[in-house]
Amino acid sequence: MKKILILNSGSSSLKYQLFETDGKVYNVLAKGLAERIGIPGSNISFQAQNDEKQIFKLELDNHKTTLKAIFDILLKNVLQSMDEISAVGHRLGHGGEYFDKSVVINDDVMTKIYETKDLLPLHGKAFIYGIEAMRSILPDVPQVATFDSAFHQTMPKEAYLYALPTEQYEKYRIRRYGFHGTSHYYVSRELSKILPQASKVISCHLGSGSSITAIKNGKSIDTSLGFTATGGVTMGTRCGDIDAYIPLYIMQTQNKTAEEVNLMMNKECGLYALSGGYSDTRDIEKKYYEGDEQAITAINVYVHNVVKYIGAYTAEMGGVDAIIFTAGIGENSSFLRQKICDRLAFMGLKIDKEINAQRGKLVELSTKESTVKVYVIPTNEELVIAQDTYNLCM
Ligand code: ADP
Repeated sequence: MKKILILNSGSSSLKYQLFETDGKVYNVLAKGLAERIGIPGSNISFQAQNDEKQIFKLELDNHKTTLKAIFDILLKNVLQSMDEISAVGHRLGHGGEYFDKSVVINDDVMTKIYETKDLLPLHGKAFIYGIEAMRSILPDVPQVATFDSAFHQTMPKEAYLYALPTEQYEKYRIRRYGFHGTSHYYVSRELSKILPQASKVISCHLGSGSSITAIKNGKSIDTSLGFTATGGVTMGTRCGDIDAYIPLYIMQTQNKTAEEVNLMMNKECGLYALSGGYSDTRDIEKKYYEGDEQAITAINVYVHNVVKYIGAYTAEMGGVDAIIFTAGIGENSSFLRQKICDRLAFMGLKIDKEINAQRGKLVELSTKESTVKVYVIPTNEELVIAQDTYNLCM
């Protein structure tokens, strides 16, 4: 059995999972989340297999001190020595056009990762902190990078090319890349085990960040996030699709800098803006039932945009065999799933209300008569990264 550590670094957070595997069975020995790195009030949660979650309040200055603190916790609870770790897998947001699959990290890969980091203005650097810290702490342990954009490298030109002057693509590589690829890949792979005949699939990864992907014969052919993770459907605090001129207009008429507009588009928009300050759909749903007008508007805009993408991708693929809901909202919000599916009744899609009341489980929602299959499939990006890490390193 080999032990593999999986890391997912955010700018002020770091998720970790320790797997034990023989390449067939993957057991999670421990997992947790470090929050508020570099901010007062930081802490690390830790949960060993079948145990209660523990929270440790610790001062975490940066990703390196955070990783050292995580190692201390692992050594006190589930590891005898750091030498037990055979490989480390990292989740990365962007692989540009360089990577269409996971790779072992070496100096050449690092150069390409540095080159693509600015393609994700808010998150790009954060992903790198974890790799840099890990390479200095465990320099002899192989490390693997799994890219959120890799699964979408199969998109045809007509889906990834924007109608900009050609040098914007040829020289500056501005194109649709797409994200959440590891999640879309995982849930579509799980669906293919249950429903191998489904060749036209729409995967709805709906969380605080959301994307919808058209998957034909197992390959991503279009996806709602584009050059950055700001476009597509309405998100928790990100605006999703807006007229391309709006940011320029705001800068020109309201004396705002590019950085201020960037922050606005990523942190102050989406459901948060529409609902009057709530980015979590649980809060918005509660307000919706209280008759709050802003909450009702936020929900209506959200459903409108999701339905619009499902309709567009159905047309692109010439039909749809199955729709998958996954991630925080997709797995848990019976309310939003029902609203989205009700709008799709025109194509013969029907879901079972009682089954839809369940949360966080793999279930088929569609009724026997439904012409489109609908599934909730909990995502598991860490498992894909662990599998890729094992297959590349062992
Ligand atoms: P991310 O990984 O992008 O941070 P997640 O996929 O974890 O986000 O999704 C988080 C979101 O999922 C929350 O902001 C909330 O809107 C939604 N969510 C989580 N649990 C529930 C629930 N029980 N009911 C409805 N929505 C939920």
